[in-house]
Amino acid sequence: MAESVAATPPSPVAQTIDLLGDRLTLAILREAFVDHVRRFSQWIDRTGAPPAMLTARLNALVEAGLMERRPQPHGGDRHDYLMTELGVATWEILVSLWAWQREWSPEGVLQPELVHTDCGHRGPPALMCRHCGRTVGTRDAQLELDPESLVLATRSGRRRSTRNAPSVSRVDLQFTEVMEAIGDRWSAFVTGLALSGVRRFGEFQSILKISPTTLTERLGRLSEVQILARSEHGGGREYLLTPRGRGLFPIFAFLLSWTQVAHPDALPLGPKLHHPDCGSRLLPALRCRGCDARLERTSVRFEPFPFGNRLPL
Ligand SMILES: [Zn+2]
Ligand SMILES: [Zn+2]
Repeated sequence: MAESVAATPPSPVAQTIDLLGDRLTLAILREAFVDHVRRFSQWIDRTGAPPAMLTARLNALVEAGLMERRPQPHGGDRHDYLMTELGVATWEILVSLWAWQREWSPEGVLQPELVHTDCGHRGPPALMCRHCGRTVGTRDAQLELDPESLVLATRSGRRRSTRNAPSVSRVDLQFTEVMEAIGDRWSAFVTGLALSGVRRFGEFQSILKISPTTLTERLGRLSEVQILARSEHGGGREYLLTPRGRGLFPIFAFLLSWTQVAHPDALPLGPKLHHPDCGSRLLPALRCRGCDARLERTSVRFEPFPFGNRLPL
């Protein structure tokens, strides 16, 4: 509790994980995108969240500049919550989360379907490099981590434990597995390091300056949900990304690119993405697998699955 560095603001990437590595926050944004939800009562209906918890998350979104409150016409002291430009800019993160769940989680078939309105294609998009226009596979890009920035990222500021948050049944059903990878700073940085090629316990530990107990716990969880796989290699144990772990790459790519939009002045700090094929920094975008066009937010829509917007209980 009484860490001397507690007053240092968390790094931009850590702030992103703190804010967006949260089930209810993602569900709030998802409902706002998919169904244009803007009222407190609508989110309560759809997520089943306790009101105090929903209030806290909406306040955090307002404070971070992703939403703004607008008085409702004739609403007395009631407010609508509208997404700002920065809030809208999270749409590629949400689409990537959706695409991952669709492909890799058991509840994937219950996800609404993404449709490219321009060509009618249905289904997950591909990742592309905005610089050269090529499609980027999960093995075609590099994540470069500056160890110094990671120490800053993980050591400073408040660290909310999402694991101890009260359970929200309907929301829980939707982001359970991906939360193992982005639900807190340690998990996110361990997964990020794995995506950047780190495999050995000692390497994770020396870069993150993390206690062996915490690291063992996170590696164990990530292995349990089959994001990492343990393997004995030569003299030591290694942790390799599984295909579903590697499939998290677009989520991390968009989390990082959004972080740069949210913190334009903090650019030199933190992880960077490269596209070795074209030698440039990777600015990720989504591409339609049907017509190859770059997807714009206004050219996609989600079609609810047959049960409506909720999972059947
Ligand atoms: Zn490129
Ligand atoms: Zn298309």
